Amino acid sequence: MKIAFIGLGNMGGPMAMNLHKAGHQVSGFDLSEAACKKYAADGLAIAATAAATLDGAEVVVSMLPASQHVEALYLGDKGLLAQIAPGTLVIDSSTIAAASSRKVAEEGRKRGIAVIDAPVSGGTGGAIAGTLTFMVGGSTADLERARPVLEKMGANIFHAGDAGAGQTAKICNNMLLGILMVGTSEALALGVANGLDPKVLSEIMRRSSGGNWALEKYNPMPGVMETAPASKNYAGGFGTDLMLKDLGLAQENAAAVRASTPLGGLARNLYAAHSLAGHGALDFSSVLKMFQKG
Ligand code: NAD
Repeated sequence: MKIAFIGLGNMGGPMAMNLHKAGHQVSGFDLSEAACKKYAADGLAIAATAAATLDGAEVVVSMLPASQHVEALYLGDKGLLAQIAPGTLVIDSSTIAAASSRKVAEEGRKRGIAVIDAPVSGGTGGAIAGTLTFMVGGSTADLERARPVLEKMGANIFHAGDAGAGQTAKICNNMLLGILMVGTSEALALGVANGLDPKVLSEIMRRSSGGNWALEKYNPMPGVMETAPASKNYAGGFGTDLMLKDLGLAQENAAAVRASTPLGGLARNLYAAHSLAGHGALDFSSVLKMFQKG
């Protein structure tokens, strides 16, 4: 299958590589020259522009930071939807506002282009291993068309509902993740301040009632888990500013439906303060720094 892949960042790069390794003809593009060079060296075909990836593409996948990037890519007279052939399937895996996903899907529908939102969970480890969880918003028929492509990048595929529903599921999940990472960091820092070994404490909590995904797969304390971003100076992974964006989306959504999300609001403020302190580009587990001395 000919696949256009736009956005070769921490997530998109490995996802595109999994499609390439599965034997698909992938044409990739990213605004970052460094990202293009990195994946070209791994054998991925790189196009000169986003539009140039479309040549013969049956499926277009995008993995961009936020709503404004996705809207700018697809919408408007010069947007990709004006250039994509009718009948093509578009899979947007970026985490963006549900309203933006619905806007792009509606514009696609008018042009005979099927668009689904398929944000992911599983982190960069899941992107590399091809074990991501996809949360899909769109019609059942479009999801079934996308399934063979999604299966090459992920292990779990959920149909959340109509256009935008994948995004709503994703921000509920990430609001919980943001809260859990803050709580895990706070608890670990408390133990360490009392002289406990963070590895021992992590293992105790992981196997006790405080066990959660951060303790299982993404420990925020450097040195506890070799593969976690914390042990790589918080490089790569899921940026603090991306978590801040997701918690902002959750708060906007909560305001729209008059839901009460006090811990989500507090978590958004903590990540905002952490970003203001200059840590926006670090992995979000670096929020642990807020609870450490110095
Ligand atoms: P990233 O910043 O590493 O990558 C995004 C890439 O998009 C960058 O390389 C950037 O140059 C590129 N880009 C932006 N606008 C572009 C355009 N118009 N054309 C081509 N390329 C463009 O971000 P990421 O960590 O890969 O995250 C991507 C999305 O996935 C975000 O919405 C994020 O919230 C979500 N997400 C990330 C993780 C994670 O662990 N990193 C996990 C789940 C979901």
